[in-house]
Amino acid sequence: MKFVTDIGFKNKKALIRVDFNVPLDNNNNVLDASRILAAKPTIDYIIDKGGACVLMSHLGRPNGHNPKLSLKHILEQTQQCLSKEVIFISDCIGPDVEKAVKAIKPGDVLMLENLRFYQEEVKGSESFSKKLSRLGDVYVNDAFGTTHRAHASTATIAKYFSEKCAGLLLKKEIQSIKNILVSKKQPVTAIIGGAKVSSKIPIIKNLLSIVDNLLIGGGMAYTFIKAQGGEVGASIFESEKTTECLELIKTAEKKGVSILLPKDVIAAAEFKNSSTTKTIRASKISQGWMGLDIGPETEIEFCKTIKESKTILWNGPMGVFEMKRFSNGTKAVAASVAEATTNGAYSLVGGGDSVAALKKFNLYNKVSRVSTGGGAMLESLEGKELPGIKALMR
Ligand code: AMP
Repeated sequence: MKFVTDIGFKNKKALIRVDFNVPLDNNNNVLDASRILAAKPTIDYIIDKGGACVLMSHLGRPNGHNPKLSLKHILEQTQQCLSKEVIFISDCIGPDVEKAVKAIKPGDVLMLENLRFYQEEVKGSESFSKKLSRLGDVYVNDAFGTTHRAHASTATIAKYFSEKCAGLLLKKEIQSIKNILVSKKQPVTAIIGGAKVSSKIPIIKNLLSIVDNLLIGGGMAYTFIKAQGGEVGASIFESEKTTECLELIKTAEKKGVSILLPKDVIAAAEFKNSSTTKTIRASKISQGWMGLDIGPETEIEFCKTIKESKTILWNGPMGVFEMKRFSNGTKAVAASVAEATTNGAYSLVGGGDSVAALKKFNLYNKVSRVSTGGGAMLESLEGKELPGIKALMR
């Protein structure tokens, strides 16, 4: 695979797939510009090398043409992030767009309208991809967050370019996944949490061949606890997944992976911050009570393992961290990942909620890498080949 640094851009137009799918408030203000900022190094690099940039992205799920999800809402923020003027075109294919692209000069940045205004985008349409491909000399993919999708702009389009490459952001993301999957620094620890075990089973399966320790927290832990005969009261659990959880535990034993489940939990009578709570054994949660955070004993055990690790992956909170009362476990884990990183470990954190937790506890800059792609990161760690990355290799 080629990277931007392997290609000359002088007097060329780079058609860059970026991920500007940013959250907007009701007045169309950008709530978090991290994704726009993440694409800046690639754009700056191409301009610095004498090229021009044509940016294409999706925003939300517009289901046809939907002005509420126009990329013009993020134009001002994009100009601020890039510290330069950006030309906006209110379509992404067709003669008018081709004319506008033809007119740009080295150093210019042009942004196309939301790709998903066309259903052909998500269908991976050949003809739509071909039309898009007329808008650049080189195809650059820098949208890691969408590389697990076989869409027109992320995968199909690549075959219409003789020159194609990964941007600087995509390069970093690929490298960070590799740092986990083929880590040279042991012990390797994965911390997996969140609500649903069903969405995490494939990644756990793959990680069992890679990690030394697997720490399981959050709501998903209760399916494991129930599978082992524990009483989980009103905690969330997925009854149809108990057999698979038992199999994972057996596989871990065979492979010598140490699986750590919560020993104690903070249980609540109601799903609210002001609820009555008690600290109890994780396998003895009485009827009507629900485990909403890991308990202090578990916190100590998890944090000790994390601090002794040299490679760390964290995906998913340890409890309902959005409520202060149930945020201690997630906060302690985040702090331990940060401390281990300061002491030389490599750490990768991904998934919307874990990233939100890092921000909430002011630890965002204290880990080695925060992934910009939730689904794409999970699928990579499941061992899958992502369509957007595969397309750049052909
Ligand atoms: P996921 O999208 O599966 O990673 O789940 C993230 C969500 O899991 C967060 O919003 C947490 O509030 C929630 N969560 C974590 N622990 C628990 C728990 N013990 N019970 C219910 N929800 C939880």
